[in-house]
Amino acid sequence: MEDLRVNTKVLRIDPENIDMDLVREAAAAIRAGGIVAFPTETVYGLGADTYNPEAVKKVFIAKRRPMDNPLIVHIHSLNQLYEVAVKIPPEAEKLARRFWPGPMTLLLWKSDKVPPEVTAGRPTVAVRMPAHPVALAFIRESGVPIAAPSANLAGRPSPTTGEHVVRDLYGRADVIIDSGETVYGVESTIVDMTRDPPVLLRPGGLPVEEIERELGKEVVIPQFARGLGQADVALAPGMKYRHYAPFKRLTIVEGDYSDLKAYAAKVAEVVKQEIAKGARPIILCSSETAQYYEQQGLRHLVLGPRSNIFIVARNLFKTFRAIDEMLDVDEAFMEGFEERGLGLAVMNRARKASGFSIIRV
Ligand code: AMP
Ligand code: MG
Repeated sequence: MEDLRVNTKVLRIDPENIDMDLVREAAAAIRAGGIVAFPTETVYGLGADTYNPEAVKKVFIAKRRPMDNPLIVHIHSLNQLYEVAVKIPPEAEKLARRFWPGPMTLLLWKSDKVPPEVTAGRPTVAVRMPAHPVALAFIRESGVPIAAPSANLAGRPSPTTGEHVVRDLYGRADVIIDSGETVYGVESTIVDMTRDPPVLLRPGGLPVEEIERELGKEVVIPQFARGLGQADVALAPGMKYRHYAPFKRLTIVEGDYSDLKAYAAKVAEVVKQEIAKGARPIILCSSETAQYYEQQGLRHLVLGPRSNIFIVARNLFKTFRAIDEMLDVDEAFMEGFEERGLGLAVMNRARKASGFSIIRV
């Protein structure tokens, strides 16, 4: 694939006090056919004008993303939904009205306006309205829906800070908007609304339980949405690639979390065996078990409390990137979490990031 080198402009935009001149500068880059990294409430995105195939191609090149992995179309109003999607089922509209703006992406039938480059030749389009004031202002000022995947190099953990984006895409994106840390830290929940019952393609910031409650029916959760088993590529094209991964080796240690003391002892056993082999591991753990590893003199980083999995999700990618920076660590062992609420998104990301290196204790 051809490579590129561009002059990158970094714009610092405070989400609490938005400088509209800077937003308009980013929007002008979009209208000129450029690519712009921008904050959302989930992770940072790398966007292009949805209706400009040449600009959309630049997103794939900048990220080194395989061309068969489609993008999400980001909109700022429901009017734009009707521009990019057709034959929208009433249940999808119901979800849109309830959860947008927010971390939910709907898979719908695409309109003729959306070029095949955006959807990788598929008849469907993934659409979402982000709940971030800078993202919404940027999309509105651009005057077009913004097609964007996450703003990381393909395969790397998704960026949750402006610094992460600069590290991956400086010299590759025309503009990088830095608005500090994102809120959720995991990507949006993707639901396929072209099927009935709907199918969860990727768990994310909005718990699937909330979608089920709103619809009053169950959403199908395939094994690949848990980060287990091989994805049906026709259904979830992005899922066949290794994703979200730190450079260092990562292993997920899953077990029974109802007795945390016994569980932590088993994790410690696995890690001690690695140390005995001469490795320098670190444990990624919950607040509840950190004390135990501390007592055992084992290196660990706290992801957050099991009692508030939102924090764990928020810290996940940041922690993956942090272990790559540690000179005296060469592998990580991550505790598993219960697959409820945001725990489903956490385990999907963790299992994929590990390249399915999973131990059960
Ligand atoms: P990213 O924003 O980097 O997480 O990438 C967008 C995600 O949306 C990928 O996992 C894609 O596979 C998924 N996606 C986008 N469009 C479609 C589509 N038409 N059908 C199925 N999945 C899609
Ligand atoms: Mg991505």
